[in-house]
Amino acid sequence: MSDSDIQTADAVIVGAGFSGMYLLHRLREMGLKAIVFEAGTDVGGTWYWNRYPGARVDVESLAYSYSFSSDLEQQFEWKERYPTQPEILRYARHVADRFDLRKDIVFRTRVTAATWNDDARDWLIRTEYGEAVTARYFIMATGCLSSSKMPEIPGLAAFKGATYHTAHWPHEGVDFTGQRVGIIGTGSSGVQSIPVIAEQALDLTVFQRTPSYSLPARNRKLRPHEVTDMKARYPEFRQEQRESGAGVPVPIPTRSALEVADAERDAVYEAAWESGSLVNLLSSFTDLAVSQDANDTAKRWIHRKIHEIVEDQAVADDLCPEYPFGTKRPCLDTNYFETYNRANVHLVNLQRTPLVEVTEKGIRTSEREYEFDAIVYATGFDAMTGSLTNVDIRGRDGLSLRETWRAGPRTYLGIGSAGFPNLFMITGPGSPSVLSNMVVSIEQHVDFVADAIGHLREQGLTTIEPTAEAQDAWVDHVNEIASHTLYPKANSWYMGANVPGKPRVFMPYAGGVGEYRKKCDEVAAKGYEGFALAV
Ligand code: NAP
Repeated sequence: MSDSDIQTADAVIVGAGFSGMYLLHRLREMGLKAIVFEAGTDVGGTWYWNRYPGARVDVESLAYSYSFSSDLEQQFEWKERYPTQPEILRYARHVADRFDLRKDIVFRTRVTAATWNDDARDWLIRTEYGEAVTARYFIMATGCLSSSKMPEIPGLAAFKGATYHTAHWPHEGVDFTGQRVGIIGTGSSGVQSIPVIAEQALDLTVFQRTPSYSLPARNRKLRPHEVTDMKARYPEFRQEQRESGAGVPVPIPTRSALEVADAERDAVYEAAWESGSLVNLLSSFTDLAVSQDANDTAKRWIHRKIHEIVEDQAVADDLCPEYPFGTKRPCLDTNYFETYNRANVHLVNLQRTPLVEVTEKGIRTSEREYEFDAIVYATGFDAMTGSLTNVDIRGRDGLSLRETWRAGPRTYLGIGSAGFPNLFMITGPGSPSVLSNMVVSIEQHVDFVADAIGHLREQGLTTIEPTAEAQDAWVDHVNEIASHTLYPKANSWYMGANVPGKPRVFMPYAGGVGEYRKKCDEVAAKGYEGFALAV
């Protein structure tokens, strides 16, 4: 490739989801030339790819939305409390149109490699089609849950029927009418899709390795006064979001679950369950995330609920999780446990009868073969690091991000990594990200990165890179906080436990979005303390 074939930009952004879209808007406003590469054919990221039946967000629409434009806040009309995937995609498209984003987005194109050139002080970014762009700043806005995974069992290609992964659902939808369907996976995607598929299919068999804690979403249309009230108080509400623990304002608990009488504790759990909000239950007492005994009270209470809903008590037993509540991502559902009362739905407990292989006709466990017309894989993602290490990122002296992170991700603030100048991650490992309302965390990171770039330009500087010392201290801090919680007790994707061979490290920052934001603001106020800045 000759030099004339290489395009130049100030910034290359990978991904046109909520992060990439807002980042493009911010950088353009600052006068930078930014190019976004996006593998899909449209904007929306997660909400572009995950089109499985029943897909919804589990943060309320009026809170799961950008705050950067008051006009956008005031003019967009959300319809449901928990919007469906099509409604969120409509929102993303609306944002792309309103801010004229598409003209700087190259769709249907994956970035495959990025190499830092220390002489030129820029990145050379390559796509799957061999295109190359040089840019001073390289930003991975690739999302935390975008590198999907299949189960590690033999015979995946042998099945003669139709196969689907929840994260790559056909755009035209799937009609399961009259079909025998098998689904593997009971995380959020499984929990949301199982009730909808069960209503359509002749027969649905659910293969469950680990049960999920799930609460009823109590979804409904938004009332006009709810929308009007929120629109009137958006500025305050946004501030509350930013200062909260998970990007969703809730009253801060003041009591231990162990200091109240059983009846009172049950009433608190009942109210949270009825509210249809995950954060209400998660934050009903001070110590659910840190004390096994306290957490056991929530666990036992939810087990009771499952046993009340599910008629066959042996099935209910199999649906009750044993790990501490909240240590794997809990779900919000519509009729999930009720679905197991249907005659056409069957649960296979893989802890008793593990998967052996996929066959021509269906799925074989250690007990027997099940025959299907279609198999749905709701088997999740190589979370948080997968989409970053899938790109061959080479920093100073050819340092490979993939290699450097072999024993687990190492970042400063989840934004940068030592040895990789001018590489930024939006909601990277080591930041609150997946433990929070993603839009709140995305906006905070985009603002931090855009402000850092603005600072460099104002000061006539060209590079910014975490120091090894600041990064080591941050990684220690992230681990220290996690070690005081129950999170490490579960085999979760937060821990990398769902991907064989992935190092077992708790990846997100569990100190809360408010505290984290304060830390980032201090870092910026002190001239980007912990980063080395150079001319
Ligand atoms: P997930 O939570 O990782 O669930 C994957 C499921 O597949 C788990 O039940 C897992 O079992 C099972 N599985 C994976 N590999 C398997 C194997 N080899 N054999 C048998 N079972 C296997 O993935 P997800 O449901 O797609 O959700 C991922 C995250 O995306 C969620 O936690 C959430 O953060 C986000 N999400 C959010 C929403 C929402 O907002 N409503 C909806 C969907 C997704 P194990 O648990 O035993 O590993």
